[in-house]
Amino acid sequence: MRIKKDFSRRKACRFCMEKSLVIDYKDIKTFRSFVTERGKIIPRRIYGNCAKHQRQVNEAIKRARQIALLPYTGHPQL
Ligand SMILES: [Zn+2]
Repeated sequence: MRIKKDFSRRKACRFCMEKSLVIDYKDIKTFRSFVTERGKIIPRRIYGNCAKHQRQVNEAIKRARQIALLPYTGHPQL
């Protein structure tokens, strides 16, 4: 079996390059560029994220949806 890893090596992961970039679900500005206007997650090969960081982005987006990106309809229930 052959697994080509060339494509992941060519583009450097943005989060690996800039250590100051922290993936935080509260920091919407950082990972907002990884989501389309409709809220879809953009595939990682487009940005060249590594698998590790893409997973973190995905989880951050999921959390952000729950608390911030998803509008509440009516009153929040406690
Ligand atoms: Zn990375």
